[in-house]
Amino acid sequence: MTAPATPLAGLLARRIAANGPITVADYMAEALGHPTHGYYRSRDPLGARGDFTTAPEISQMFGELIGLWAAVVWQQMGSPDLVRLVELGPGRGTLMADFLRAARMVPGFKQAIRLHLVETSRPLRDRQKQALAESGVTIGWHDDLAAVPDGPMILVANEFFDALPIRQLQRLPGGWHERLVDLDEDRMGFRFVVSPGRSAGAALLDPVLRESAPVGAIAEICPAGLAISGAIGARLKAEDGAALLIDYGTARSAAGDSFQAVKAHKYHDPLADPGEADLTAHVDFQALARAATEAGAVAHGPVEQGAFLTALGIEARAETLKQSGARDVDAALRRLIDAREMGSLFKLLALTSPTLDGSPLGPLPGFGG
Ligand code: SAH
Repeated sequence: MTAPATPLAGLLARRIAANGPITVADYMAEALGHPTHGYYRSRDPLGARGDFTTAPEISQMFGELIGLWAAVVWQQMGSPDLVRLVELGPGRGTLMADFLRAARMVPGFKQAIRLHLVETSRPLRDRQKQALAESGVTIGWHDDLAAVPDGPMILVANEFFDALPIRQLQRLPGGWHERLVDLDEDRMGFRFVVSPGRSAGAALLDPVLRESAPVGAIAEICPAGLAISGAIGARLKAEDGAALLIDYGTARSAAGDSFQAVKAHKYHDPLADPGEADLTAHVDFQALARAATEAGAVAHGPVEQGAFLTALGIEARAETLKQSGARDVDAALRRLIDAREMGSLFKLLALTSPTLDGSPLGPLPGFGG
């Protein structure tokens, strides 16, 4: 028998040996969020020396344009004196630092902002504090959205929902069964199995998908994501505001196994090194939109990232940056908007209060407009 691949693999192997296989969601929750060995608890995973790079880390243009987008939404809300600016999973605080710099361009907006960062990782909270030290806004950190005080709200989340635990269901001839993580042959590693009984989770699947998926198909549900989207929807029903959810995933609920691991910028076996590789799944935007609208918000989109950033004037912003001597601007622009890079796979879903007129994803005045 070999040693467990990681300390967390040892803990999970003992748990499974004692109590039986666990859901993919339990495995993912432990691998990412275990208090001592969880991937996000112990490290800063971002950047060239980390495991993956995100849009705000590629270029300042991303956060700036989101800031400009938010300023327009704030004006549509009637320019309230106080707005709760909420970011879910702010990473290194880069998006928010760029956002707040751009927000200064709109008189009154920055003064109205109370910033609330929802972040469970202590190392990343420290990074956020550093990144925003000069921002001139009051910041509160919270473990979850429920802890953010009431009030008019603008919320942004970039690559947050893809990190929330998913359950996987598989269709067998008699119905949908839960996909589980069990011990493999040598009882140190892991493998997927399927629960013998049918899963009640089928009730959470998109109705069309539930009926039409072929035998053998795998479908995913993200209970934590649906709960958070529902909570955002309830807040937007109660008070004015908007939310912008940015992630990679599908516009419509579809069958498929998107559970994946990335380590040092390369794909990795998701069951191989729990706690030491980033685990994600594609975001089902249709399901998130449904959860928010059932709670009373209005959903817009999703639209593709390339189209959204182009409508906001990213090309004009890139020109200005180049003229001021910034380097590698064209490469960053391509990564963000090209359909073969992040431009098409990444999408934006906007959620708004029913009182807000029009779509916040329509043509907007950008840096060029
Ligand atoms: N938005 C950032 C970081 C994306 S990585 C960027 O675009 O660069 C995912 C972020 O979500 C990290 O900050 C991570 O610590 C945080 N996170 C993951 N799961 C979380 C949870 N359940 N609650 C709060 N924050 C979480």
